[in-house]
Amino acid sequence: MTRLAGKTALITGAARGIGLAFAEAYVREGARVAIGDIDIARARGAAADLGDAAIAVEMDVTSQSSIDAAVAQTVDAFGGIDILINNAAIFTAAPIVEIDRADFDRTFDINVAGTLFTLQAVARHMIDRGKGGRIINMASQAGRRGEPLVAVYCATKAAIISLTQSAGLNLIEHGINVNAISPGVVDGEHWDGVDAFFAKYEGKAPGQKKREVGAAVPFGRMGTAEDLTGMAVFLASDEAEYIVAQTYNVDGGQWMS
Ligand code: NAD
Repeated sequence: MTRLAGKTALITGAARGIGLAFAEAYVREGARVAIGDIDIARARGAAADLGDAAIAVEMDVTSQSSIDAAVAQTVDAFGGIDILINNAAIFTAAPIVEIDRADFDRTFDINVAGTLFTLQAVARHMIDRGKGGRIINMASQAGRRGEPLVAVYCATKAAIISLTQSAGLNLIEHGINVNAISPGVVDGEHWDGVDAFFAKYEGKAPGQKKREVGAAVPFGRMGTAEDLTGMAVFLASDEAEYIVAQTYNVDGGQWMS
């Protein structure tokens, strides 16, 4: 279990949920990991649980100075960055006629601009360092097809798939492979907000929406963060050297259903 031995990674939004599962998996595979998150208290707790292989880095992906400081802190601690996972994002939802301009701006700022400008800062570092690297963006099935009440989040994830293609094609000449993972529904704290939203707009009882979407997954249940870690390790490993600008579904068959 040392497919990432000697590698260093910066993972955004890794204080909880899927990003934290990625950090744990990377440490198990021998990597050192910077847990970048706006929730620095929780990031510190997560890093402490992972021991010497992890540090916590305060980071707001909507702020260029914060991105630059997080990259510099990671490079100072580890000597360089081999892998970036652009995982930080927020979920927002509203019927089309109720979409609020400020929510739209905030969702695009975190999910799309945050991904692009963190990718840019780390790519500049990787190019200067001359050792190539791996960048993994978090897309979603929501970026593959629209959802009636989730237009803005869906559009941000469609943008991530497109950005992954362009950045992947642009950066491979520097030995930087950019790819994305597209999960389906994944259990976690994120679902508290989703459930509250559907309770309001569809009159669902607490937990009802989650049970319904889980039952509709061809595999037979919702995904877990752990279900995604194999792909995240693979895309960062030497085995994935020839994979460029792709978005992989890890979704229990949802894209086919
Ligand atoms: P989550 O909400 O549990 O965790 C997101 C983390 O990002 C939190 O720790 C939060 O503090 C951090 N964050 C929020 N804004 C930030 C900012 N401005 N700067 C830095 N950090 C910030 O999310 P999750 O469910 O673990 O999802 C992780 C990724 O996977 C996201 O990109 C999400 O869109 C994607 N995804 C999730 C699901 C799902 O069902 N959970 C499905 C498909 C894709």
